[in-house]
Amino acid sequence: MAMIQRPKGTADMLPAQAYKWHTVEKLASDTAEMFGFKEIRVPTFEDTALFIRSVGETTDVVQKEMFTVSATGDDTFTLRPEGTAGVMRAVVENGLLNEAFPQKLYYITSCFRHENVQKGRLREFHQFGCEMVGSADARADADVISLAKNLMDRVGLRDIKLNINSIGCPTCRAKYQQALRDYFAPHRETLCDTCKERLEKNPMRLLDCKSPICRGIAKDAPLIVDYLCEECDAHFKALQKYLSLMNIDFEINPRIVRGLDYYTRTVFEFIAEGIGAQSTVCGGGRYDGLLNELCGKQVPALGFGMGLERLLLTMEQQNCDFMEQKTCDIYIASMGQAAAEKAMGLAMELRDEGFYAEYDLMGRGIKPQMKYADKIGSKFVLVIGDSELESGDAKLKNMATGEQVPVKLDGKFVENFSNELMKYMFKDIDGELESLMGKE
Ligand code: ATP
Ligand code: MG
Repeated sequence: MAMIQRPKGTADMLPAQAYKWHTVEKLASDTAEMFGFKEIRVPTFEDTALFIRSVGETTDVVQKEMFTVSATGDDTFTLRPEGTAGVMRAVVENGLLNEAFPQKLYYITSCFRHENVQKGRLREFHQFGCEMVGSADARADADVISLAKNLMDRVGLRDIKLNINSIGCPTCRAKYQQALRDYFAPHRETLCDTCKERLEKNPMRLLDCKSPICRGIAKDAPLIVDYLCEECDAHFKALQKYLSLMNIDFEINPRIVRGLDYYTRTVFEFIAEGIGAQSTVCGGGRYDGLLNELCGKQVPALGFGMGLERLLLTMEQQNCDFMEQKTCDIYIASMGQAAAEKAMGLAMELRDEGFYAEYDLMGRGIKPQMKYADKIGSKFVLVIGDSELESGDAKLKNMATGEQVPVKLDGKFVENFSNELMKYMFKDIDGELESLMGKE
């Protein structure tokens, strides 16, 4: 029978990988909250017009990568290709612009882009995103950048490079765009078709083209830093000063323009060396014009999106630590119907108290039950048969040491088990302490 397979560019996250995702998600939300960001969740699909208006008509994302969906007789919608547009829509729609500034929001969410699939480039991928609304101050840029940096340090990444640039405001950009048109015009016929169009509508997009020919031509194009107006220049210099104050190393890369049209002034990327072509783990910047575009109010804002698949790839490559998976505290093996019923009852009591307890659901004999308990890595096994039921005395086996402790199957069982588990955990810590002391 022909099996149906998952769509190209999507991934299944199996239990064996889940703990890695949990690690990253937990550290990401902890970090965001330490910086005063609160979680926001918005719909997976939005009006297509939202993305056209915010991401920009001439971007790759809107021109080639949108997943547009429709239900019979309904309007069409687009699965979010990125997080910022939907979050800003929600900020406006829910009146958050009337609340205290800065508003600081974060999300961990899936994004959808119809891309050429490669390592680190998927059609459904995940982003950790942070957005800050209301501050035009370069301190805010430094704060947001340091949040991303803090998370990458916390997960244990090394050798991550921060590149920053300023792409100015509409005022200084007008002059720059003219300079770009003048530069590219003589090469018009050699440019790819998309770039021919970009030349008129949005020449800065030419700098973001992935075609080697366009890239070659763009190599000597004029640089935005030479066209910044006084205010944008001052903002950019202030950001550099703050980053230095925070001991955050950076490089100015005048070629970063970012793939989305809403950016103004600061743009930045964190790049991991060694995960191949898709090395940008995190990208972000300021988008002072976006809220105006969406609701007619001039409110500055900024943020970043961190690609979690790329973050994980880099973590794996650098052998970073992940949170340990929870393992079973106790497996209750039983023989016979009455013992099986007792096992169910005990497991319920244990779970009520927050212990991770399992018992046989397969009708297996004792030996395969023990094998299963070993396989799931249970810390303890309790065996109940007819004689244990009768006497109320049983043995609790420590699976790591093989040690057996007598226990009573009475009203105090859960409490007694809890004590044994404590001893087990503290023994671990004692052992670690001992070996640490030994090393000194
Ligand atoms: P790229 O230049 O790699 O295409 P981008 O400029 O399109 O990236 P953004 O829109 O800024 O990326 O998204 C922020 C982050 O999300 C990226 O830095 C990257 O880590 C991740 N990302 C973007 N597109 C994908 C994708 N198709 N698959 C996996 N991760 C992605
Ligand atoms: Mg892209």
